[in-house]
Amino acid sequence: MIWNQLNTFLVRLYDPIDRVENLFLKMRNISVMTNQMMFLMLADHVFITEPKMTCLYTLMFYNVVTYCISYIKELIEKKDWSPYVTLTERSKIKHLAMSATKIVLEWTKAVTFIVTLTFMLLVFGLHQGLEHYKLKDLLQISGPVLKLEREMLNCYRKATAEEIKQFDDVCPVCLCDMIRARVTPCYHLFHADCLRQCLKTNDTCPMCKRGLTLGSVSSQ
Ligand SMILES: [Zn+2]
Ligand SMILES: [Zn+2]
Repeated sequence: MIWNQLNTFLVRLYDPIDRVENLFLKMRNISVMTNQMMFLMLADHVFITEPKMTCLYTLMFYNVVTYCISYIKELIEKKDWSPYVTLTERSKIKHLAMSATKIVLEWTKAVTFIVTLTFMLLVFGLHQGLEHYKLKDLLQISGPVLKLEREMLNCYRKATAEEIKQFDDVCPVCLCDMIRARVTPCYHLFHADCLRQCLKTNDTCPMCKRGLTLGSVSSQ
């Protein structure tokens, strides 16, 4: 008798919780996301010693990876590669509006996939890159070096417009037209930047291989 009463009481007490739980499970996206977040937060707590929250980042990354895999799976399992939609399954008459929609949709999916994949790789690369290169070091290294290279370039005079017109050819390094150029002592014309890049590795003229050391310039 008393057990029955207790049972009804407990069922009545649990009823609202039960309804909320059912509602929560019906909202699939939200419940799945909450579960994932709870799980990842727990993982954070167990695996990361510092008090740090990485669960949102992990969740985002997890979803991106899942999306990429599901799209690849979709492509592998796809049987109907025709861009057209027919009126019925057996008819050969194409439905113009539906076909156009299908093409746009498939292209959008493909482009989204490529963009997502590119960004994922970029994030990976950026993360790796930032591990090894500190911006401050990079500036310290490249600043003075660039200045030195520019100073070295100043040993070669700028070509006059007439000289460029007479030369009437592309830059031998990048094969692009020249509007401005530098002249070597051996009278070869290059883009300033192309010459600077060449002088980084060799101190000879890229065209005739004559030595372009500073001594030979001053003796000119
Ligand atoms: Zn060039
Ligand atoms: Zn030369």
